[in-house]
Amino acid sequence: MSEIKQCCSENHSKDDYDLAVIGAGSAGFSAAIKASENGAKVLVVGYGTIGGTCVNVGCVPSKTMIRAAETLHHAKEASRFSGISISPRLTDWSEVIKQKDALVSELRNAKYTSLIPTYENIDYRESKARVVDGGIDVDGEFIKADKIIIATGSSAYIPNIKGIEDVPYLTSTTALELETLPTSMIVIGAGYIGCELAQMFARMGVSVTLLCRRHLLPETEPEISEALAGFFRDEGINVIEGATYEETQYSGGKTRLVISSKDGLETLEADHLLVTAGRKPNTTGLGLEEIGVELNGNGGIKVDSHLQTTNPNIYAAGDVTGRDMFVYMAAYGAKIAAENAMNGCCSNKTYDGSLVPAVVFSDPQVASVGMTEAIANAQGINVATSVLPLSAVPRYIAARDTRGLIKLIADKDTDQLIGTHIVAPEGSDMIQTAVMAIKAKMTTEELGEMIFPYLTGVEGLKLAAQTFNKDVSKLSCCA
Ligand SMILES: Cc1cc2nc3c(=O)[nH]c(=O)nc-3n(C[C@H](O)[C@H](O)[C@H](O)COP(=O)(O)OP(=O)(O)OC[C@H]3O[C@@H](n4cnc5c(N)ncnc54)[C@H](O)[C@@H]3O)c2cc1C
Repeated sequence: MSEIKQCCSENHSKDDYDLAVIGAGSAGFSAAIKASENGAKVLVVGYGTIGGTCVNVGCVPSKTMIRAAETLHHAKEASRFSGISISPRLTDWSEVIKQKDALVSELRNAKYTSLIPTYENIDYRESKARVVDGGIDVDGEFIKADKIIIATGSSAYIPNIKGIEDVPYLTSTTALELETLPTSMIVIGAGYIGCELAQMFARMGVSVTLLCRRHLLPETEPEISEALAGFFRDEGINVIEGATYEETQYSGGKTRLVISSKDGLETLEADHLLVTAGRKPNTTGLGLEEIGVELNGNGGIKVDSHLQTTNPNIYAAGDVTGRDMFVYMAAYGAKIAAENAMNGCCSNKTYDGSLVPAVVFSDPQVASVGMTEAIANAQGINVATSVLPLSAVPRYIAARDTRGLIKLIADKDTDQLIGTHIVAPEGSDMIQTAVMAIKAKMTTEELGEMIFPYLTGVEGLKLAAQTFNKDVSKLSCCA
């Protein structure tokens, strides 16, 4: 605490700030709180609903609605156990939305709005800000700040499809606010948001077509992508991979999309077109060029490992940097940016994005960390892999739900675990064990010899590790 205080200016007028943060989402709040805890006088300027993407239109609303839809699906699937049959139904979509909104509002209040008054050296203004020499401009008013952190997030990327400007397409934000449940929906883009929302709507009873240019979750292992596409198709989702989008139109309450795929040209029609083709950093209107803040090739703000931009008084964190677009990485990066911004002389914190776990809240969930086989090969590593179907994991056998697999990537020369990729029911709960194993530089032999509790999903990691040199189907229980 005292270290940073030394670095804050003692010669401010009462209206000047040590730090101005632009953006009041996860990164903005994390930066402001960190700087404030260390004695800085901070101004946060937020545009739009306080709290930003995650709590309002991202993680929280999507995950609660995914869970709601899962209850319908799992009740239907209960008949896989003899003697049980349940016929669930969605009785009132608007109630689902209302309950989701109440949760969002509760968490927004608990994690954002009500926090501000508890930090006496953080001021908050609701407006659009841009960076100017020596501070920021808010509604034409110059506010002096020694340092600035840009944390303006990202928004839905809309691909350039002929006719799209005349189509009332949905984004993830508006899809989660629909007052009426549509009967049909075309989803463009099968990254994690597209996969999660396509499955959620399908389980709520919407006829969904999920389209993508290559395959589902293009960054993931091919075995996992293929398995997930199969599970989606089993649930009735029309998955079309390798599609290009020729043209779209809207008339008579329907959207039509002409696509080209291996089957030739096809016209799809639905009540709604949901565009989930990625996210683009929010950098326009911030005055970046005038102030010497450069962008990356991916459209995000260019930062070094200290999260300093090409202007030494300005730092950036979160989605606006165009990488690791997860809320935990936004909050993590923002703390580092705040420490470095306030205490450049004494702090030397660097951003480590080398081991970032990622989860897709599909069902089964996809969870991964570390290198894929393709990345390891590209790096010239002598790669060994093991792929374990969940039909070999007692937890899933007992649950009569063996949808999924675990793929481990190791360095053949050292036997060190370098990547873990899972598609499994509640697979998200396993991934942190793999993060720690990779971080601890464990070998697959060590992982295979560790004690794991019986009938847990995470025991699958042990079995997958043993699979490098054994046929686990020939082992007795827990051996
Ligand atoms: C549908 C969906 C689901 C997601 N699910 C997950 C998940 O399950 N787990 C996960 O880790 N991540 C998830 N994410 C990603 C996560 O929400 C983001 O990575 C995270 O919220 C980014 O935080 P941020 O602070 O960088 O940006 P934001 O939270 O977007 O905050 C930026 C804020 O800055 C404001 N702003 C923009 N320009 C200005 C300006 N000029 N002046 C003032 N304010 C401005 C914006 O309006 C916004 O409020 C999801 C995202 C989406 C869209």
